Amino acid sequence: MSTQTPQAIRGTQDIFGPDAEAFAFVVETFERVRKLYRFRRVEMPVFEKTAVFSRSLGETTDVVSKEMYSFEDRGGESLTLRPEFTAGIARAYLTDGWQQYAPLKVATHGPLFRYERPQKGRYRQFHQIDAEVIGAGEPQADVELLVMADQLLKELGIADGVTLQLNTLGDGASREAWRTALIDYFRAVKGELSEDSQDRLERNPLRILDSKDPRDKPFNADAPRIDDFLSAEAQDFFAKVTSGLDAAGVAWTRAPALVRGLDYYRHTAFEFVTDRLGAQGTVLGGGRYDGLMEALGGSATPAVGWAAGIERLAMLVGEKGEAKADVIVVVEDDALLTSGIAQASRLRREGVSAELVASGSARKRFDKAVKMGANAILALAMRDGTPSMRFRAENEALTALNERLAALVADFSGK
Ligand code: ATP
Ligand code: MG
Repeated sequence: MSTQTPQAIRGTQDIFGPDAEAFAFVVETFERVRKLYRFRRVEMPVFEKTAVFSRSLGETTDVVSKEMYSFEDRGGESLTLRPEFTAGIARAYLTDGWQQYAPLKVATHGPLFRYERPQKGRYRQFHQIDAEVIGAGEPQADVELLVMADQLLKELGIADGVTLQLNTLGDGASREAWRTALIDYFRAVKGELSEDSQDRLERNPLRILDSKDPRDKPFNADAPRIDDFLSAEAQDFFAKVTSGLDAAGVAWTRAPALVRGLDYYRHTAFEFVTDRLGAQGTVLGGGRYDGLMEALGGSATPAVGWAAGIERLAMLVGEKGEAKADVIVVVEDDALLTSGIAQASRLRREGVSAELVASGSARKRFDKAVKMGANAILALAMRDGTPSMRFRAENEALTALNERLAALVADFSGK
């Protein structure tokens, strides 16, 4: 019988140390920023009926056709581990009566699952932060989401070298006219396109523009542009988005070939991209998905949202050292263990972070604490048969902390 330890699943990560701190920093910053913009927190199930994703994303998308983790549960129902948040949130909006809160601004974060080829910045279990505005058809909603994304990147300290690429896909009529022109254009060179793009040609020609295959790229440069097909309303909508961004001081560049693959996207489409992450350069993407609710059987409901990969954001944040403890409480004599526990608990209740060192060789505990590093060390020992406490400030600049510890020491020796 084999006693080998089972390995982790390919494409999953055990995140630890500085990487885990960077991950937590991304989530904490997102939580702070979404509150500034008054987005309400939601928690969503990790799995849904498969139809929630196949109907909202569309059968022709890469996610549905090749990337979903779908399985039958013991009751014979087809379920899927969520590959994205939007579809589940849209489902909840319809099934839970969230229409009463429209326009509804919601935010969440958590794991997603896609069967992809694992590489740097691309995993089979990854994590996103996500923000959606449902039931708002005005361009201000797009602007608010984009300004929030921009502020988030700035507060994460990674805005330099990340650019907002912005496009419009127009309204339904503009998009349909563009689609027809793209089919005509690509049909003429069909034989030279990649197999994937030949396949996309009739079903989802916009996706060819998104192709990363070098065989497709030369044709994409001269492909028809959406600008030639935009209705007056669609132009006006886009102008309101861009003037809002300018008013808020958010830099953007026009990316006329940027598409979101899914059929229900309308008007605004955007990505924040960087060249600092190699091939996996898109950190945040989103757009307006006015057609989605109908695909799920609801009534027409405008909506817009974005999602960002936490791992990719954390990679840009870089090594985030684990913070030093404020205080290490060293119990140098086992008889003083309960005093040590009492001191450490008291400090923590006051909001001071504390670590207790009370194991291993008693003689070496103080040295161990010095080596671990902290802003101060509080040591408990027996001196001539009497309990005594002393502290060593490791950072003179932290006056408030040092004064607090001096007071604790005075209090202790007064007993
Ligand atoms: P890509 O073009 O990189 O495959 P996508 O268009 O499939 O991205 P979205 O569905 O828009 O990605 O998801 C939004 C964000 O989630 C991406 O910009 C990226 O930061 C992150 N993301 C998507 N797939 C993965 C993955 N497999 N591993 C890590 N992060 C991912
Ligand atoms: Mg993808």
